[in-house]
Order: sequence, then C-alpha cells, then structure tokens
Amino acid sequence: MESCISCKPLGFGCMRLPMLENGEVDHAQFCNMVDLFLERGFTYFDTAHPYLDGKSETAIRAALVQRYPRSAYTLANKLSNSCFKAEADIRPFLQTQLDACGVEYFDYYLYHALNADYYKKFTACRAFETVQQLKAEGKVRHVGMSFHDKADVLDEILTDHPELEFVQIQFNYADLDDPGIESRRCWEVCRRHGKPVVVMEPVKGGGLADKLPPAGKLLFAQAGLSPAAAAVRFAAGYEGVAVVLSGMSTLAQLEENTAYMRDFAPLSAAEQAAVERVQALLKRQDSIACTACRYCTAGCPKAIDIPALFACYNTSQVYEGWNSEAYYEANTLHGGKASDCVRCGKCEAICPQHLPIRELLQTVARRFENEDSI
Ligand code: SF4
Ligand code: SF4
Repeated sequence: MESCISCKPLGFGCMRLPMLENGEVDHAQFCNMVDLFLERGFTYFDTAHPYLDGKSETAIRAALVQRYPRSAYTLANKLSNSCFKAEADIRPFLQTQLDACGVEYFDYYLYHALNADYYKKFTACRAFETVQQLKAEGKVRHVGMSFHDKADVLDEILTDHPELEFVQIQFNYADLDDPGIESRRCWEVCRRHGKPVVVMEPVKGGGLADKLPPAGKLLFAQAGLSPAAAAVRFAAGYEGVAVVLSGMSTLAQLEENTAYMRDFAPLSAAEQAAVERVQALLKRQDSIACTACRYCTAGCPKAIDIPALFACYNTSQVYEGWNSEAYYEANTLHGGKASDCVRCGKCEAICPQHLPIRELLQTVARRFENEDSI
C-alpha cells in the first residue's frame, strides 16, 4: 500500500517552540527555524491545540503559513480529548483550528493520544464518522491517530477502523521492549495492519539526548554519533516509519537534526552496536531489577500487571519530567493498581529475580497514587 506520508523522514514537532521571557513564542527564532527546515528539504509540521495553550497553532500561522505557499509544507493537527465534549463540538472545533493556523485544510488530522478510555469517548461522540465527513468535504486530507496505550488496544482500534491511514506512536530505543509502553509491539501491530508509522518522542523528552548519562554520551561519541542523531536515526531506520518527529526548541537543535537527516542513512552495524550498549547501560539504571519475564502475572488474583507498573516506576526515576504518569494510568485503567495488591505473595514465590514485589508495589503506589507525590 502506498504511504499517505511522503516526505523527508524528519518532522518538526511544534510543542516545544522557542519561547521569550514574556511567555510568547520567539517569533524571530521560530521563523529562522522554519526557513532552515524548508531550505533543507523538510516539509512536515505537527501541532495540536493544547500545545503551548493554543500558541503553537498561531505561531505556525505567523511563521509558516503567512510566509510560504501552501504547497511548500504539510501540516498535521489533532482532535484532542480536552477540546470536545459531544459530537456537536467536533466540527466547530476543527474550524477554530483551521482559522488559528490560517489554512483551508490540514494534510493530516489525528485522533489525539488515543488510549482505551479515550477510544470509548471518541466512539460515543461519533468522532470517527464526523472526521470522515470533514475529510469528504476537503477540510482534512488524511486521517490517522496518535496513540498511548498497550499494543492490544492499538490492534483493536485498527481492526475496528481500517479507514485510519497512519499511526503516530512513541518509539525509541529505550522504550522498545518496555512492558509499560510496548513500543516494538505497537510498531509490529502497525506493520501488520499496513499503516505507515509516525514516530513521536524519539529522544524521550530529551532523556536520550542532552540528558543522557555521560557514559552513554561517551559510548556514542566513540561511534562518531551525537546522542540525538543516534536516537532519531535509530527510529527512522525501522521499516514502515515514514517520519520521525522532533520537538525542536532552538535553531541549533534544528541545524543538527536536519544536518544528519538531510541524507538519511540507517545506522551502520557499528552504530547499532553502540545503541545496544547504551540500551544495556540505561537498563542497569533501573531501580527495580525486573526482567519482564511475566512469570508473576498469571497467578495474581488482582490482575496487576506487575512488570508494566515496575517499568513505569523505573522510567519515572530515570527520566525526570517524562510522562510516566500517563502510562501508569493507561496500565491501570481497568483496575490492577499497585495499591490493589492483597499481599498474598504468589508473585514472590515465582519471581526468578527474588524481588520483594509486595514491598515494591507499595513504593510504586506511593509514587503514582499519592496525589502529593505526583
Ligand atoms: S502479592 Fe499482590 S501482586 Fe503479588 S500476586 Fe498477590 S495480589 Fe498480586
Ligand atoms: S516474575 Fe519478577 S522479574 Fe519476572 S516480571 Fe514478575 S517481578 Fe519481574
């Protein structure tokens, strides 16, 4: 199937734009970034109404839409959960987005951050039918979704909605086999359904770039890579990945990213080996040494996804500011919270790592379920 996304494989994620001290977008710097991005042959811009409280959309209008012909770029926007309550809200909301961005249509329109819970609401509000009507009217050209939940939920949505043309997933070398996020399994589901993949968070909110531990930076330097280049090229090298989004905040970041992605080449064997060494290094930083073998889960009377909750906790400890809370919520949506543990001990009897699971779950509960600690 021909991909609906055809562009150089780096997209400009407009959720962390350069800001001035007065809280406004740094228009001059953003213009320079837009200019260089387009000059180097890249065309894909991604926004959503909640980004920068609506300022991302209006900044795009000023720096991109009013300065370049419509054919020079493609623009993705999203139907966000927080922006509608009922079916009747969707159509006027999309019109406010078109007006804010100053365009007649969006090239790509995504159901934003779908998970099992949001999927129910989007279905009940007939979002899928409404957006298809808007597509038929030419207000959006291609319809997809961005996704934050487990691979089985993704499979269910794509099975129910074969009309979706592409999927945006969180995908990076640290989350690949994370049991709380399941990046690899989500990518496999997309491949099975024949959907092009848009990658978000390739550097995990900076955790795999500037904030990577010094030992990781050294390993990449020895392979002639910057941490950001390693992470973005790792994601872009996967089959079916059409574009990797990078939320760039400075001209320097944009210069670096566009330089190594201008003539994109997948990682060489030596570069891939460096990524694997860094993956192992990051794994050793985990506070809870769970190997995700899942021996413990089948016998739990409270259906607690123990390795997934431990993974959320590990992530929250290593990647400060990362959205582990959202993943904890997605993993416990239908019960199975850490605090549900009845301390029967069945899991500990079977754990090959001899982890004090009951005690650790209390720590996890304190981290994610105590309002004061979140
Ligand atoms: S001790 Fe808690 S987590 Fe372990 S099996 Fe029993 S209820 Fe489940
Ligand atoms: S049995 Fe132990 S190591 Fe395996 S998934 Fe459960 S907690 Fe993790």
